[in-house]
Amino acid sequence: MLIVMESGATDGQIRAVMERIQTLGLRPHVIPGAERTAIGITGNHGPLDPAEFEILPGVQEAIRVTKPYKLVSREVKAADSVIQVGGRPIGGRRLAIIAGPCAVETETQTLEIARAVAAAGADLFRGGAFKPRTSPYSFQGLGLEGLRILARAREETGLPIVTEAVDEESLGMVEDYADAVQIGARNMQNFSLLKRAGKSRLPIFLKRGMSATLEEFLMAAEYIVSEGNYQVFLCERGVRTFADHTRNTLDLAIVPAVKHLSHLPILVDPSHGTGRRDKVVPLARAAVAVGADGVMVEVHHDPSRALSDGPQSILPSQFGDLVRDIRALAGLVGRSHD
Ligand code: PEP
Ligand code: MN
Repeated sequence: MLIVMESGATDGQIRAVMERIQTLGLRPHVIPGAERTAIGITGNHGPLDPAEFEILPGVQEAIRVTKPYKLVSREVKAADSVIQVGGRPIGGRRLAIIAGPCAVETETQTLEIARAVAAAGADLFRGGAFKPRTSPYSFQGLGLEGLRILARAREETGLPIVTEAVDEESLGMVEDYADAVQIGARNMQNFSLLKRAGKSRLPIFLKRGMSATLEEFLMAAEYIVSEGNYQVFLCERGVRTFADHTRNTLDLAIVPAVKHLSHLPILVDPSHGTGRRDKVVPLARAAVAVGADGVMVEVHHDPSRALSDGPQSILPSQFGDLVRDIRALAGLVGRSHD
């Protein structure tokens, strides 16, 4: 249920509606709007009676939300959400470019790549300190030391950091160092981790599970938002199909589909989406053309020696070309990246 307040509703009236919701054992979520405030209600297991809220002073109407996801839906909030990560906007008119290595390997490697992507125009720096690897014998990441290296990269370049947490323990550590927490494809339906992310003060970068439907993806975001963390931005990173010319099949059609149903920003990751260096730049361009709020790409100065995802990592020079292409395309789709 969504309670839409009158445009002139007072703070006291808004508070009274919230108290009424709490008295019923439910949870109110205030959604400020340009003209009116709305209050989403979660926690009910059956339909609520709109009349119960419409009699309260300052209430314009109470609307049933038809979608299974509530707080992330456009029904509840029509305007696009803009998430601030370390002072950089994700969503809105400006496109966001996130770049960095798959994994933090050494301080030298990380700083070299961070300097290169910062100089080329990246907005955020990425790099995994905790790596969810298919094989237990593969490089698992540097853990805490990796987070410290990321913090040094931020100090030197000024770029905010986004890095993955793979469980509740690493999430607590990531919170101490990063500007946003990534929840990866393999954890998109780790519901206890999503709930914990919902209690974080940091924005959450939620990647689509490799076999998740659109509804499952939005429900995963709803888990985070329902716990009170409204700062969520999404990422399409490819799904499993029969096609074997790429590592995954990048589902660009999900971008306009998400935009239609949800107010959350959505980025595209053509690195994991294709798994092939030569396909990253073309698919990044396609992502911008289809309306994504930005891209995330893996960059490595020496990909043949990378400890993970070398074959899909682009060189710093290719990243420079990519930023140039994105800037050229932005104006065509009503966006900017200056
Ligand atoms: C990553 O971004 O490094 C990563 C592991 O991505 P995904 O969860 O999409 O596989
Ligand atoms: Mn990777």
